[in-house]
Amino acid sequence: MSFSLSISENIQDLKSNLPEGITLVAVSKTKPISDLMQAYEAGHRVFGENKIQEMVDKQEQMPEDVEWHMIGHVQRNKVKYMASFVSMIHAVDSLKLLKEIDKHAAKHQRTIECLLQVKIAEEDSKFGMEEADLRSLLGSEEIKELEHVKIVGLMGMATFTEDEAQLRSEFKGLKNLYDALSESQQFTTLSMGMSGDYKIALDEGSTMIRVGSAIFGERNYG
Ligand SMILES: *Cc1c(COP(=O)(O)O)cnc(C)c1O
Repeated sequence: MSFSLSISENIQDLKSNLPEGITLVAVSKTKPISDLMQAYEAGHRVFGENKIQEMVDKQEQMPEDVEWHMIGHVQRNKVKYMASFVSMIHAVDSLKLLKEIDKHAAKHQRTIECLLQVKIAEEDSKFGMEEADLRSLLGSEEIKELEHVKIVGLMGMATFTEDEAQLRSEFKGLKNLYDALSESQQFTTLSMGMSGDYKIALDEGSTMIRVGSAIFGERNYG
């Protein structure tokens, strides 16, 4: 990433090089509204945040046609604050959370698209489900009763490393699981790839990348 480029140039650059059908989520966490507006004015509409309160504050200040994605870990007691507007929740990792999303989406007569987060990194710190738990969740009777959530795919975060072979193999593993589950699920979305690894993720079959610092510059925190 070059600091001589502006946010709008970064975003246009990125989008012009993306294969057809790939969605770019511009990850704007910690960044001011003026930065988001530069991306908006360059034609971008899909933004990702990792904290619910911050997303709510920004949603109130940004134009109505922005599509908001919650990409961070979600605490159940905060789902209610975003249920009226969030379009996709990326890091769902339990039936309890799905039920809470369903309940609040129903109150707003909406259906919220959700991705199940799969643990693909070797670090312990990363959230996400193990494959066995994910399969039993998808196969459960209870999930069929949830009418206001739609599970549209999977999300994963690779290990923080520059080892390309390792990144590739983690993404490949997630893609294989996605393909296997797609035989019985109506999946449309595989969310994998960030500023440092999105090219590899795209090679390995990602349909949605979450890019922050390569658009908005480095963050001081978050
Ligand atoms: C911050 C974040 C990103 C974007 O990270 P960059 O390296 O700045 O592109 C993507 N996904 C998640 C879940 C994040 O928290």
